[in-house]
Amino acid sequence: MYNKNLTDSDELSRKSKALYNSKDWENIKVMAFERDNHLCQICLRKSRNTKANLVHHIIYVKSDYEKALDLDNLMCVCSACHNKIHSKDEKEVFAGEEKQKNVRVIKV
Ligand SMILES: [Zn+2]
Ligand SMILES: [Zn+2]
Repeated sequence: MYNKNLTDSDELSRKSKALYNSKDWENIKVMAFERDNHLCQICLRKSRNTKANLVHHIIYVKSDYEKALDLDNLMCVCSACHNKIHSKDEKEVFAGEEKQKNVRVIKV
């Protein structure tokens, strides 16, 4: 039942809320942590070993919902780096990575 009064962003926040409460998300998160050895992938690039406690969507759910449960779109990070990604420092975080040009990081 489609509610015409719902804006796209309402629809998306409802969808992403459902996603983060889903079993599928729990499962893919476990897979991402295992793949990344529970280490923050951004700290790792700076030769630091920091335990990751969050899984970040490289292409954010809001941009492409289809990639929400795509392991290749997930990245384990620590909360410090995650805050950086979602702040104005994102260019600094991804500095020097030409291959990351397609990475779109959008605030939650
Ligand atoms: Zn980190
Ligand atoms: Zn994130």
